[in-house]
Amino acid sequence: MRIGVDLDDTICRTTEIVHDRIEKYSEAIHMNPLDIMNDEMLKEGFFRIYLEDIYTNVEVKRNVQNVLKRLRNKGNEIYIITARSNSTVPTVKNMFQITDDWLKKNDIEVDAVILSAYGETKADVCKRYEIDIMIDDDPYNYKKITSEGIHCILFDDRERYNLKNDYLTNWLDIEKYIERNR
Ligand SMILES: [Mg+2]
Repeated sequence: MRIGVDLDDTICRTTEIVHDRIEKYSEAIHMNPLDIMNDEMLKEGFFRIYLEDIYTNVEVKRNVQNVLKRLRNKGNEIYIITARSNSTVPTVKNMFQITDDWLKKNDIEVDAVILSAYGETKADVCKRYEIDIMIDDDPYNYKKITSEGIHCILFDDRERYNLKNDYLTNWLDIEKYIERNR
């Protein structure tokens, strides 16, 4: 099977590191973190400084390495499909390299990394690459991908969404689910 996997907040703890860095930044410039995140200019200023640090140092979620390794050993292909792009902020133009280095540093082997995919595009990418099942934490992507007839698991480990079905909260359950649906 060809398995599509989102990156931020699906295999790594992006929200947590953003919160940590925004705390530091807000202390340094004497502002409230919420006021920074609610203001487009201030938010861009923050990400200009911290985006590379965030993507370089973000932590992997629990069990991701082992589950992806086992899935690959069983002949599945892992395609990372992410909205990360070189146009998020002008200061970060080497998104592929940052992401690739991070995967290697964290011992995560994959078959492909596809950038700049969100919403419609992510669903299109899944179709173009003939993804059998996609795993993503964003309900918008989940709906778009599902509406294209592609199997998608909504990953929700922080109880953010009220969807009763079709979501899983950890990587061991994702592994079991994929095994059952081979
Ligand atoms: Mg995500």
